Amino acid sequence: MIEAYLKLEEERNAQGIPALPLNPEQTTGLCELLQSPPAGKEEFLMNLLTERVSPGVDPAAEVKAAFLAEIVAGTKSSPLIDKVKAVKILGTMIGGYNVQPLISALSVADLADTAATALSSMTYVYDAAEQVIELAKSNAAAKQVVDSWAKAEWFTNKPEMPEIIKVKVFKVEGEINTDDFSPAGDAWSRPDIPLHALAMGKTRFPGGIEEIAKWRKEGHQVAFVGDVVGTGSSRKSACNSVLWCIGDDIPAVPNKRRGGVIIGSVIAPIFFNTAQDSGALPLKMDVTKMNMGDIITINTAKGEVTNEAGDVVSTFEIKPDTVPDEYRAGGRIPLIIGRSVTSLACAAIGVAEPDIFTPADNPTPKPNQGYTQAQKMVGRACGVDGILPGTACEPKMTTVGSQDTTGPMTADELKELACLKFQSPMFMQSFCHTAAYPKPADVLMHNTLPKFISDRAGVPLNPGDGVIHSWLNRLLVPDTVGTGGDSHTRFPIGISFPAGSGLIAFAGALGFMPLDMPESVLVRFKGEFNEGITLRDAVNAIPLWAIKQGLMTVPKKNKINIFNGKILEMEGLPNLSVEQAFELTDAAAERSAAAGCIKLSEESVCTYLRSNVALMEKMIADGYQDAQTLRNRIDAVNEWMKDPKLIEADANAEYAAVIEIDLAEITEPILACPNDPDDVKLLSEIAGTPIQDIFIGSCMTNIGHFRAAAKIWEGHTFNPQDRVWICPPTRMDQSKLKSEAYFAIFNQVGARIETPGCSLCMGNQARVPDGVNMFSTSTRNFDDRIGNGAQVYLGSAELGAVTALNCKLPTPEEYLAIYKEKIAPFKEEVYDYLQFDELGEFDNVYKRCDI
Ligand code: SF4
Repeated sequence: MIEAYLKLEEERNAQGIPALPLNPEQTTGLCELLQSPPAGKEEFLMNLLTERVSPGVDPAAEVKAAFLAEIVAGTKSSPLIDKVKAVKILGTMIGGYNVQPLISALSVADLADTAATALSSMTYVYDAAEQVIELAKSNAAAKQVVDSWAKAEWFTNKPEMPEIIKVKVFKVEGEINTDDFSPAGDAWSRPDIPLHALAMGKTRFPGGIEEIAKWRKEGHQVAFVGDVVGTGSSRKSACNSVLWCIGDDIPAVPNKRRGGVIIGSVIAPIFFNTAQDSGALPLKMDVTKMNMGDIITINTAKGEVTNEAGDVVSTFEIKPDTVPDEYRAGGRIPLIIGRSVTSLACAAIGVAEPDIFTPADNPTPKPNQGYTQAQKMVGRACGVDGILPGTACEPKMTTVGSQDTTGPMTADELKELACLKFQSPMFMQSFCHTAAYPKPADVLMHNTLPKFISDRAGVPLNPGDGVIHSWLNRLLVPDTVGTGGDSHTRFPIGISFPAGSGLIAFAGALGFMPLDMPESVLVRFKGEFNEGITLRDAVNAIPLWAIKQGLMTVPKKNKINIFNGKILEMEGLPNLSVEQAFELTDAAAERSAAAGCIKLSEESVCTYLRSNVALMEKMIADGYQDAQTLRNRIDAVNEWMKDPKLIEADANAEYAAVIEIDLAEITEPILACPNDPDDVKLLSEIAGTPIQDIFIGSCMTNIGHFRAAAKIWEGHTFNPQDRVWICPPTRMDQSKLKSEAYFAIFNQVGARIETPGCSLCMGNQARVPDGVNMFSTSTRNFDDRIGNGAQVYLGSAELGAVTALNCKLPTPEEYLAIYKEKIAPFKEEVYDYLQFDELGEFDNVYKRCDI
C-alpha cells in the first residue's frame, strides 16, 4: 500500500500538486498497517490517517471513523493510537461518520473530556445535536458540549478577521469570467481541485499560477485583483482554483484551501457568494490604482487600502456586514450551521443567544409596503408577506438542480456537510454537459453519481435525457423558490437563485439557503410582435433598450449594467407558454442578473403543470428514483392546481429601474454580436456577414425551434460551405421530431445531430473549428467558449435556419420573406409544445434514446 501510494504521490508531485486523498480501499489498507506499522513508517502512516482522508460522509471517512471507533471500543488497537488519541482524531473529522463514536465516548470516564472538547468545536451534527442535548440531562460531558455550543465557542475560539492584512497584488486587467478561472475544456478535472487549478488562467493570464506560487514561496500573502471578477457561470470550481492558489490549507481536509483575499471593482454576485461560502474575503472597491506586484495594506477596520508609500489607493466598505463573521467562521455556510446549533443549544438550556454575531442590517417595511412578484415569492418561502431588497433571509428551497460538471463537486460538498438525506423536497441531477462525449472521469461519474443522489432521495436523470433546465422546469411548483448549480437555473415559474456547488449542496442538504435579497429591475413588454419577430428578438431587445436608456454599456472598462446582481422581473406577455417564457428568464443569466422571473397567466401555467404531472408519472413507471420524491412532487403540483392563483406584484412595488419595450417597435431580428451577449445589433447592421457554422440547440430552444428550422430547410439540400448542428434539448423532443419526420430534413441539409444535452453551447464536448464565424441559438458567446477564436452571433433558430441557406446573415427583407412563406402559414403546427398528458396511445415520445 505504501509503495503504491508513494508512486501515485510522485506522479502528482511531478505536476506540482499533492496526491489525491485516500480512497476507501487505500484507507482500509492504511488502517490494517496502523495496527502493526512497519518500522520507520510510523510518522508517514499517521500523517496519511490524520491529513489525507477526506472528512464528513466520504466513503473513506467511513472506514477511518469505523477504525478509530473500534480503537475507542477496544476491539482494535494500534501502537500509534491510544483511545484518547483516537477520540482526538475523530474530533478533526468535521461531522458525519465520526459523530456517533464521539457521542459514545462522552459516556466513557477516561475519554469524556476529550470527546466533549472535540464535539464542542463541531457543528455539522444535525439530528445528533438533539441526542447530545438529551444526554446532557444525565451526563456532565454532554452538558459541557451543550453549554459550549450555547456560548458559540466553536466561533469565539477562532481568531477574528485581522484588522491589517498585507498582500501582494496579482492583478488581471479587464473582465475575468469564471471560464478564465475554470476553463470549460478542463471541466473533467474540476472535482480534483489542485489538478484543475493548473488550468487557471491558461489563456487569460498564462503563467499566473507560477507567479503566484513564486510570490508565496517568498513569503507573501497574495490577493487576486481584477476590474470585473467572476462573471459567467456559477462555478465553485472557479473559486476553488483561486483559493487553491492564494488560500491556506485546512487542517485534516486534504486538497482544499480557504481564506484568501479577492478584490474587484466589480465582483459578480454568484462569485461573491461563492467566495463568502468558501471562507475567502471578497472586497469590492476601485482597483484602478492597484498594479501587478504592488504591496498593499488593507485596513479592514478603516476600510482603506494603502500602498508602500502610505498613500491611500482605495477605500471600501465591507458588505454585507456579516462578512467578518463569515471569514472568522471559515465561510458563510459554517457560520449558518454553527449559529443554528447555538440557537438549538440555547433553547434547550433556556438561555438567551449570545450577542456576538453581527446582526443582519435588514430594512424595515413601510406601512402598506408594496412588493414585487419576486419579493412576494421569496417572502412566501420565508413565511412573510414580502422580502425587501437588502434583507438577509433564508428562503425554503423547494427545488434544487445540479448539473454534471459541478455534480461531483456538489457531491464532495454534500459529503463534507455530512448529508445522508436531502431536506429539500426535490433535488435533481442531470448529465447534460458530459453525456455526448464522456471522458474517463465522466464515465466514472455517470456510473456513480446517480446512486449517490438517489440514496439521498434525489432524482438523477440518465445521460442522454437532455438539458438540465428543460427537465428541472417540469418539476417545479409555482411561486416557490429554488436554486441550481448551473447559472442558467432561471425558473419560468417561481424563482431561482443559481449558486456555486457549495451552496447547492447546502440548499439540498438543509432545505433552505442564505440569500441577500437583491433589488429588482422591471422589464415591461407592451404591444404585439410583428410577423417574423421571435421571442429571441425580445430577449435581445432587453439589452438594446437598456443601452438606449443609458442603463447599460458594452465596453468592459467602467461598464454600466443595471441588471448586474439584480432580479430581472418581466411582465406584459402573460399568454406565453411556459416553454417560451423560459427563453426570457434563462437569458437573465446573460444580463448577470441574480435571478429572473416572469408574470404568466394561470392558464399557461396549468397547461404546463398538467403535462408535467404526466411526465413525472411516466418517470416513476420507468423506474426513475427516488420514486417517492417524484410522487411527493406530483402531489404538491396537483394540490396547487386545485386552487391555482399566481403571485402578482403590488401596484406600488418599487424597482431600481423600469424598462418598457414596445414590441411593435421591433421590426427586424436582433442579434448579440461577437463575443459579448450584451453587444446587441439589428440584423440590418450586420447583414451579409459570412457564417460557417450554425447551431440550433441549448436550453434556449424548445421543440418549436426545430420544427421552424426544418420548415425553412424543406426542399433544400446539403450545402458544403457550412456546417449545421442540431441538438434537441431533451430525448423527448428528439423522439417527437423523429416521429414527425423532421429528422429526414435535418439529414437532407447534412446536419450533425447531437445527443440531447448541452452540446456546443457548453463547448466542453463538441467544438467548432478555430476562428470560424458562427450563428448560434445558445445562451452566451464568451470568447473561446464554443471554439477557439470563434466569432459567435446569437439569435433565433428561425434566423439561424435562414442563415444556413446561403452561409451568411441575410438582410431583414430576405429573412422576413422566407419567414412569411415557410413558417407563418404553419405557426400552429410549428409552435405546438410537448403535452405529455395528451400523447396518443402509439406516441413513442417518451422512449429513451440510445447513447
Ligand atoms: S445548454 Fe448551455 S446554458 Fe443551457 S445548461 Fe447547457 S451549457 Fe448551460
